[in-house]
Amino acid sequence: MRLFAANYRLLGWISLILVGGFLTTSIAGFLASREAIEHSISEQALPLTGDLIHAGLQKDILYPVFISSMMAQDPAVREWLANPGQHQEQILGYLHDIKGKYGTVASFMGSDVSRKLYHTYGPPDELTEGRAVDAWFFRIKAMHNAKYETNVDIDTQYLLKPTLFINHRVLDGAGKFVGVAGVAVPLDTMNQVLARYQERFGRNIYFLSSEGKVVLSGAPLKDEDRTLSNRAGMKEIAPAILNRSVAPTSLAYRNGKSDVLVNSRYLPELNWYLVVEQNVSGNIKPLTRIFALNFGISFAVMLMVLAVTLLTVMRFQRHLQKIATTDALTGLLNRQALALLFHQTTLVSKRSGRPLSAILFDIDHFKGVNDAFGHTAGDSVIRQVARITLDVVRESDVVTRWGGEEYLVLLNDCKLSQAIAIAENLRLRVAEHDFGLAADKVTVTISLGVAQYHDNESEANFFARADDALYGAKNGGRNYTNASHVASPAAAVVVGS
Ligand code: GH3
Ligand code: MG
Ligand code: MG
Repeated sequence: MRLFAANYRLLGWISLILVGGFLTTSIAGFLASREAIEHSISEQALPLTGDLIHAGLQKDILYPVFISSMMAQDPAVREWLANPGQHQEQILGYLHDIKGKYGTVASFMGSDVSRKLYHTYGPPDELTEGRAVDAWFFRIKAMHNAKYETNVDIDTQYLLKPTLFINHRVLDGAGKFVGVAGVAVPLDTMNQVLARYQERFGRNIYFLSSEGKVVLSGAPLKDEDRTLSNRAGMKEIAPAILNRSVAPTSLAYRNGKSDVLVNSRYLPELNWYLVVEQNVSGNIKPLTRIFALNFGISFAVMLMVLAVTLLTVMRFQRHLQKIATTDALTGLLNRQALALLFHQTTLVSKRSGRPLSAILFDIDHFKGVNDAFGHTAGDSVIRQVARITLDVVRESDVVTRWGGEEYLVLLNDCKLSQAIAIAENLRLRVAEHDFGLAADKVTVTISLGVAQYHDNESEANFFARADDALYGAKNGGRNYTNASHVASPAAAVVVGS
């Protein structure tokens, strides 16, 4: 029992060490790979996507800037805006030409002289200072450090197609501000780029106004998701996104069970933020699978190591047990083994009510055998007596080497009279046996003491009675069988011949 507990403890420790080792290496590998993947997404893939979109955007912006600049440089336009009253027809014709030729959504001119806004949608509108819808005109008029302004308005008819307005200052020959010329173009290219990236890489791409409202996204958004701080998990990082830094900012947040990496940058030309995000849970999933596979293999290896260890330990223990309980010379059980066995045998005998007897015997004048033929020959005699004994008793009986040339046989289900008969049989078999000691036949004999076990008798008492009977047999002249008929030692009766 103790051996088993020790075995399990050993296996427990080995399992613990193996599981600990495997877990540590697997988790370390998993974390390192995840970090590498996340790093490459957040530091390379997402900023690169932002760069590409930004570049596409530049193209979208440059084109209308070029057209509006061309309009503003046109001497005719300068002249018309300085004297708009006489040239309204020409202005409108020119605007329609521009629109038709360059595919703009609209083209327009505002005159500071007439305070009228000429456009391709219909009759001119009034430009009134202090009125919100006209604020852009007066803002440009007041602008001195730039030639034009870009402005994005989302036409509510085209919610996902915002329109880029380029408003260019127009000066007369003397450098005096006379009005604004400009065009409106859809941000088509950018839209396509957004949609393409969104679809191809599973990246969420959108633009935020400086107040943190989504103004343009690669895929349609729910209304509640149009405000940055309302988006699941993004409340905390909203201030870090709206930081006016033109350099890309890398951030991360958690949306439910998904880890999302975010890259954001401020685009001053639009006063917008470009945000690219990627849910990396999908990229991490294969790692989780590899981790699970790794752990599965490790677990199988661990089971194999445990099985091999258990088998080895058990085999070693069996070997140790055998060494500890077996007599090397005869292969019989030794006295220690008998001590272990005896208790169990008495219990079985008590429970079953079957008698239990023992024969203790000793080779006569064995010193003489050793002296005459040598120790090796003596060993041979000891071995042969063991073999004869095993031959005479039943398989269920236990033969042990009690000491030097003394043996003890435990006879199960055997009362004293039967034990005496077996002892006599054994005595005769030994006496008749040719031990091959010399050309002249040398007789080897044994003396035997027999006793039957009495209920609740101590082990010491029982063996002492058998020993006394043996002593009696020796005293009786040797080559004798002597039995103990009473419950206490030193009361043996000679029955042998
Ligand atoms: P007795 O008839 O009174 O038993 O006489 P004995 O000579 O047999 O006396 P005793 O039992 O005292 O001596 C046993 C001898 O057996 C002593 C020892 O040298 C020898 N002996 C004990 N174990 C071994 C063994 O393993 N091999 C050999 N060859 N001799 C052994
Ligand atoms: Mg002897
Ligand atoms: Mg002896």
